Amino acid sequence: DQKKEEAVSQMIEDVVKLLKSQAKIKNISINYHKEDELYVYCDRSQIKQVLLNLIKNAIEAMEDSGEINVSVLLIDSYVQIDIRDEGPGIPEEVIHKLGEPFFTTKQSGTGLGIMITKQILERHDATLEILQNEEKGSTFRIRFPAIT
Ligand code: ADP
Ligand code: MG
Repeated sequence: DQKKEEAVSQMIEDVVKLLKSQAKIKNISINYHKEDELYVYCDRSQIKQVLLNLIKNAIEAMEDSGEINVSVLLIDSYVQIDIRDEGPGIPEEVIHKLGEPFFTTKQSGTGLGIMITKQILERHDATLEILQNEEKGSTFRIRFPAIT
């Protein structure tokens, strides 16, 4: 495969650039402030696909206006990427269905994004966690093993 040490910030910035105009139409801002430069061992194009799927879902979940916050942290032995939205969140009874092929609540959704995301992350020994925010919306949390 194509795995190399890749800068997380570069991949996020590339994807945010791609989605900027789609977000702007809905008056949504995608906030990402690079702090420490962190690297993960990954196939760059696949992880960009993951970030695209999740940030696109965040945009689609939100009504007009609001914020999507992307953050990256080194926690113990993980590099953690959070994608936090201000959408409606995910009902308890639906949460376990995410990632089932063709499960979608959208008119023209494919219901494949999260399934593909999980498959890609598995191939990177990375995990996806879905959290409900305290106020509103949800957070999709990716954890990569830190490079040692
Ligand atoms: P699709 O986007 O084609 O519907 P996905 O696999 O990407 O397929 O997502 C499956 C479903 O999960 C969506 O239809 C939606 O109901 C739910 N979902 C995904 N991301 C979010 C989110 N950020 N907020 C609320 N619901 C979400
Ligand atoms: Mg999707």
